[in-house]
Amino acid sequence: MKAYSTRGQAPAIPIAEAIAAGLAADGGLYLPEHWPQFKPADFDGAGTLAEIGLRLLQPFFEGGALETALPGICERTLAIDPPLVAFGNKSDFLLELFHGPTAAFKDYAAGFLSGCLSALPRGEKDLTILVATSGDTGAAVAAAFHNLPGFRVAILYPDGRVAPRQAHQLGSFGGNVCALRVDGNFDDCQRLAKTLLADTEFRRRVPLGSANSISLGRLLPQISYYAHAALGHWRNSGTKLNFVIPTGNLGNALACVLARRMGLPIGEIALASNANSVLPEFFAGADYAPRPGIATLANAMDVGAPSNFERLQALYPDPAELRQQLRAEAVSDAQIRAAIARSLAQRGQIICPHTACAAEVLDRLRARGESGDWAVVATAHPAKFPDVVEPLIGRPVPVPASLAAMLARPSHADPLPDAVEALKVALLSNAKPQKPALSAGDG
Ligand SMILES: *Cc1c(COP(=O)(O)O)cnc(C)c1O
Repeated sequence: MKAYSTRGQAPAIPIAEAIAAGLAADGGLYLPEHWPQFKPADFDGAGTLAEIGLRLLQPFFEGGALETALPGICERTLAIDPPLVAFGNKSDFLLELFHGPTAAFKDYAAGFLSGCLSALPRGEKDLTILVATSGDTGAAVAAAFHNLPGFRVAILYPDGRVAPRQAHQLGSFGGNVCALRVDGNFDDCQRLAKTLLADTEFRRRVPLGSANSISLGRLLPQISYYAHAALGHWRNSGTKLNFVIPTGNLGNALACVLARRMGLPIGEIALASNANSVLPEFFAGADYAPRPGIATLANAMDVGAPSNFERLQALYPDPAELRQQLRAEAVSDAQIRAAIARSLAQRGQIICPHTACAAEVLDRLRARGESGDWAVVATAHPAKFPDVVEPLIGRPVPVPASLAAMLARPSHADPLPDAVEALKVALLSNAKPQKPALSAGDG
């Protein structure tokens, strides 16, 4: 199948090429040309996430450069079935997407993307994945490409502006991963990455790739876990599952919309934003008005201009029709804190600040008399945010084994001034094969 650009000024290209390219040449985002349609019975005999994901994704890749690699990619990168656990009441559930190596849902998408890129032909030189991060993305991308032959990762993060555990995680990989703590904020990091990715002369010396959330190779695999959760629920109960999704750039929630569009038994979809209320305002009837993001307790959702909104608009060009697809609500920091405390006291679950936005929205829906079975999507493990969560619940959050192992490793990040020339020097020295820190990670 081919993919087209949301801006319509770049040619449609095979999906595998769109995954390798990231952004389209006209600055648009790629979308598949059509959406295969499924009935629940089409998944008979498929139970695991990897099996369901393979059936769901196969039509996109048929006849393309990744067709034969797809089963192996699904098996390796969709290996962890996300549990749908009870959330206090009989009709409320928690979809735990945080059981991957860095304890956030981005592990699924980053893993799948790395599987695709390593199965595609590349040049002779290593490809350096350049990623600017405010926390979770950098760790998920680093984990996905760690020690993968032919790849290096350079992470740019704002020094002193990510949670201490997130900073430790970013510097703990070593091997082919280089962490750079930038003297600047997240926007500065993003600007550095964008400037260098646009520098064709430098890219001839150090081949660069990106892995940010607009990549089609990150969007597609995320459809799988919504299909897996909804099918499991359908098989148990014969009813559709509704979802509340913590939302920033809209990548995760868009995948749920797509799963429903492909025929999976999904009912309503509600977006939970933090105090960045651009989406709640749009879905309440206002014009779409992107703006700078503001800092909140749910920092991975501090987005004022959600990048995937452009895809939603391309899928539903009529705003009235688009508003029928979703609803959205904003959640303040005070409400996040209250929801974390309430979730443990009333539902017996410890949740992270992002998940708390969705839990708060579910409570509002129930208070208004909303019926049906609803799943709150848990996007990160609460142990990543002990500074916020522990004072609210009055006890330590148990740390999952993979996160504990990462936190036990030494961590190192090089300081970087906010200057493109300095980044070039760092990447050139990182690209030298004889660098001892790199050979330590070989094999
Ligand atoms: C990235 C992230 C989000 C936001 O997901 P989007 O796809 O950008 O909407 C929510 N929660 C956590 C923990 C995240 O890391």
